[in-house]
Amino acid sequence: TARASIVVTGTEVLTGRVADRNGPWLAEQLRVLGVDVGHVVVVGDRPGEVRAALDFLAGTGVDLVVTSGGLGPTADDLTAEVVGTWQHRPSEVDPELEHRIAAVVERLSARRNWRVDPAAAAAGVRKQARVPAGSTVLEPVGTAPGLVVPPAAGRSGPLVLVLPGPPSELQGMWPDAVADPTVQAALGARVELRQQTIRLWGTQESTLAVTLRRLESALDGLEVTTCLRDGELEIVTRYAPDAQPRYDALLAAVRDEYAGTLVSTDGSTVDDLVARALADGGLTVATAESCTGGLLSARLTARAGSSGWVLGGVTAYADPAKQQLLGVPAELLARVGAVSTEVAAALASGARETFGADVGVGVTGIAGPGGGSEAKPVGTVHLCAVGPDGTRERSLVVPGSRQAVRERTVTVAMQLLRS
Ligand code: ATP
Ligand code: MG
Repeated sequence: TARASIVVTGTEVLTGRVADRNGPWLAEQLRVLGVDVGHVVVVGDRPGEVRAALDFLAGTGVDLVVTSGGLGPTADDLTAEVVGTWQHRPSEVDPELEHRIAAVVERLSARRNWRVDPAAAAAGVRKQARVPAGSTVLEPVGTAPGLVVPPAAGRSGPLVLVLPGPPSELQGMWPDAVADPTVQAALGARVELRQQTIRLWGTQESTLAVTLRRLESALDGLEVTTCLRDGELEIVTRYAPDAQPRYDALLAAVRDEYAGTLVSTDGSTVDDLVARALADGGLTVATAESCTGGLLSARLTARAGSSGWVLGGVTAYADPAKQQLLGVPAELLARVGAVSTEVAAALASGARETFGADVGVGVTGIAGPGGGSEAKPVGTVHLCAVGPDGTRERSLVVPGSRQAVRERTVTVAMQLLRS
């Protein structure tokens, strides 16, 4: 199996001002290609650090190092030069590439109405067209070309694949990079892995761990990772094609033991399922939210096409808003309190009527950290969905911080909408 590592460059990433999206993304792509990923190293925009990272990784005996960032036109963008020197390949201007980049810059600055100093622009273009001798240029997605930089003739060491920092450029260039014959040769013979994602809802990671331990020997050859994501428990499995029967056995066991909490076996999230159910059913939905402050509305409308089923929502935080905007009776609020199943139901009906929707959803609760009591502790939430086939209610105490309570409550609402 080929081995690869990743060097993420950028002082903004090192200092945490920008969260690294390239390291995890590249690691994922490489693993699915059947490549063993050893390290993701993050370094600032300093030549010495980039060199030190390359030295370290070469010492681990990897076949391929992928770098991200530092290919721009400015002086702090130095990856191409550093990698070239490290591979004993001095950089030189590629005139044909210079023309191509100049054309892109001209087009971009015209379209975006940039004010450019021609001399500075030309210098930037020239810099970006300076590439290590004997490297392969990957077509720029933005202005920065990617580079495949092998060790100089007679030298050993890893192939270095140099990619731009902006995630959209890096991802856009990836297919070309993988198709490059030199990269293919470095990756060698390998088996591409299959990947499957199963999602559960309302299952503890520790409960699932018991199942996985029990199945242990039957799961030989499967790489199984579990993680909690947006309130759902995600089981990601990777395996070589010949381990398909073992995956099928795992899936059968999960279906059997977690039938009640299974969200999907094809990686779909509850949000996907809700969108599909509403679209397929030709149903419209409206929301009335208190403690989630519009987060449910935001999640329902996060996907393209949601105008086909979402009519609207009301954030009714204060009691008078619940009365005036959604017709929740003052008497009810006084009698049972805003955080109650009755008010959740009244909010749901209110949303349904206000917007003339097929389905109305009401959410009320105590997000905390203050405001809880013995009878209604922090995290107490009541949800209700009213639709053509009746009413569905959920009441529970959601654990966690204010933010966690709000987000998990939205996931509960999604679960209610799905069923
Ligand atoms: P250019 O400077 O031409 O945009 P570049 O290859 O020099 O390209 P960088 O300067 O390293 O790229 O990064 C440009 C921007 O891309 C960064 O400011 C940051 O917003 C984003 N970016 C870079 N690296 C990462 C990363 N690892 N994760 C997320 N975003 C990144
Ligand atoms: Mg830059």
